[in-house]
Amino acid sequence: MAFESLTERLSGVFKKLRGKGRLSEADIKAAMREVRMALLEADVNYKVAKDFCNQVSERAMGQEVMESLTPAQQVVKIVNEELTRLMGGDEPTQLHIKNKGQTVLMMCGLQGNGKTTHAAKLGKYYRKLGRRPLLVACDIYRPAAIDQLRIVGEQAEVPVFEMGTERPELIAQKAMAYAKDHGNDIVIIDTAGRLQIDEALMDELVRIKQTVEVDDTLLVVDAMAGQEAVNVAKTFNEKIGIDGVILTKTDGDTRGGAALSVLAVTGKPIYFQGIGEKLDDLEPFYPSRMAGRILGMGDVLSLIEKAQAVQDDKEAEEAAKRMMANKFDLNDMLAQFAQIKKMGGASALLSMLPGGNQIDPDALDEKALPHIEAIIYSMTPEERAKPSIINPKRKRRIAAGSGQTVEAVNKLLRQYEMMQKLMKQAKRNPKGFMRRFSG
Ligand code: GDP
Repeated sequence: MAFESLTERLSGVFKKLRGKGRLSEADIKAAMREVRMALLEADVNYKVAKDFCNQVSERAMGQEVMESLTPAQQVVKIVNEELTRLMGGDEPTQLHIKNKGQTVLMMCGLQGNGKTTHAAKLGKYYRKLGRRPLLVACDIYRPAAIDQLRIVGEQAEVPVFEMGTERPELIAQKAMAYAKDHGNDIVIIDTAGRLQIDEALMDELVRIKQTVEVDDTLLVVDAMAGQEAVNVAKTFNEKIGIDGVILTKTDGDTRGGAALSVLAVTGKPIYFQGIGEKLDDLEPFYPSRMAGRILGMGDVLSLIEKAQAVQDDKEAEEAAKRMMANKFDLNDMLAQFAQIKKMGGASALLSMLPGGNQIDPDALDEKALPHIEAIIYSMTPEERAKPSIINPKRKRRIAAGSGQTVEAVNKLLRQYEMMQKLMKQAKRNPKGFMRRFSG
């Protein structure tokens, strides 16, 4: 799971701090050394890690923190705030999408980083928001690239403009006229990628930018490339000028270095993150949520948004709301399971739940879902709505009815209780909740 080891390392540091009643400057220094190591291990840029720790130390050594009754928690709070700031603040940075007239987005990046996929993801994203995007095939070197764009365009239900192997700047220019004629208000240009940065590619991108007025030049980079991704961003920015980054494959086994260093190194924000191979697997990049995720505080907000996006009916959205209102019962859990597949699988979901990193992923293994569903189906409506009435006798009946063991029933109830408890804590006392998961 993404960021897992960084999260673990930081939890360890904070746990040690919490073990001490009062903090001395030496304690904070020692903790910051460990935080720095953890960041470096997560492939964060050296200078970024150093500056970050200096900044946190400076704030942490202030009187307010040192003299507070809960200094360790204050340090966690500062780390959370500084992580958020490092990645761009509370809210996602918005693309420069115009309300009237045409907006042009140019996708660029190295081959295999997810450029074509994300052109289509963006197309779908804006189509769903009621816009009329057009995808433009300017990767003329690989015939397969045009086919690929055509295929993903079809899946995204977004039209694709192509002119075979014409010159890319000419294709872009014609695409603009086509878009105007056909009422397409967002033109998304997919450009050629290379395995490595080369001058010919840069020249080509510059020529496209000289020919059409690009509102946002988006660099697509693979989060798993860590610092290398950041170097690529730096070079692209110097050579062609980028407006921001789409960070892809954050669902993979990334250590966090790219997410944490891009803005500090390039001065350009991350706009969106790719969280899977499907065309719906795209999210605006919320630095605060990413910080929360890195610190293991979970991401209930993202979960709710995801439920909203996936749902055609309102079912999951309701369940997520009920979850926040502490009314989450086993009926909701059942409804949620039905959505889990749509939402990218159990492990993706788990990574977004508060404290999800502390739950055994196997416990929510997709393969286990039919069993869990069978158990819930064997309960009476009353039991589902109020699981606390399930006594040993009822457990035996439910186990027999579902063909499962009493232990499996117990396990499910424990999971349910744990989820409910976490939700309650997160809602009632976000800071205390943070404390708990910081050690
Ligand atoms: P391009 O060469 O930059 O256009 O890259 P593609 O769009 O062809 O993507 C390369 C591979 O990465 C494909 O197999 C995609 O399915 C996969 N991919 C793209 N974005 C993501 C993502 O956010 N998560 C995951 N897991 N895979 C992705």
